[in-house]
Amino acid sequence: MKKLVVANFKMNLTSSEIKKYVMALAPKFKSDKVDLSLALPFVSLESGKFLLSGSDISLTAQNISEEECGSLTGEVSGAMLKDIGVQRVIVGHSERRTRFKETGKSINKKIKIALKNRLQVVLCVGESLIDKNSMKSQAAITAQVDEALKGLYENELENIIIAYEPVWAIGTGKTASVKEIEEGIKVVRKAIETAFSKKAATEVRVLYGGSITAKNISQVVGVAGLDGVLVGGSCLDVATLIYIISVCEAGAKK
Ligand code: PEP
Repeated sequence: MKKLVVANFKMNLTSSEIKKYVMALAPKFKSDKVDLSLALPFVSLESGKFLLSGSDISLTAQNISEEECGSLTGEVSGAMLKDIGVQRVIVGHSERRTRFKETGKSINKKIKIALKNRLQVVLCVGESLIDKNSMKSQAAITAQVDEALKGLYENELENIIIAYEPVWAIGTGKTASVKEIEEGIKVVRKAIETAFSKKAATEVRVLYGGSITAKNISQVVGVAGLDGVLVGGSCLDVATLIYIISVCEAGAKK
């Protein structure tokens, strides 16, 4: 299976800057080893889709409303995202859990709405520094997986990708070690096995995210059982993202 690279722009770059970025990236990307998806800000998704037409690069949204439609000023629905050609959506990112107080219940609703609108989900889970220091990482990750996927049918997991993102590693410059990533992936798969089945646990795709850079990507991509990466800050430089993709391609050959 191809490795998935999701580039999360967060709230960075204007649409004009993204236009330049995409025009530099798209002609250079063609791969039978890596799937690339750009998680652009909402306002750049439609123009991004236009600029990416004819390329193999897909689009990911960074958020979705937990409601179908209606009087919800400022929200963006699953139907709106699907309509402009978005393929998947990030749900449960730690910045949304902490800064915007998103709960497990709301994350669960967002996932169900995304699936209903035929959008794939990149579900982010990971322990905080407090969880880590108090040896509660396993419990925290398991609880996040359980809450997020409550009420889903096993066959719906083919449209769920789980990103293990230790909160202490996001945007901090502190990448998890190979051992820590392996352990996090193992906990994610165990939670899926308990909630669904061994088959589901083996098949679910798991990514790692947290301060990935050109320097550490070769170490990360070698982690056993890893299906790809979620790259934040480092994706803002086209050359760095291209380099990260090239290392993932080499890793995918193994
Ligand atoms: C992220 O936003 O999911 C992320 C992993 O960010 P960074 O790479 O900047 O740590």
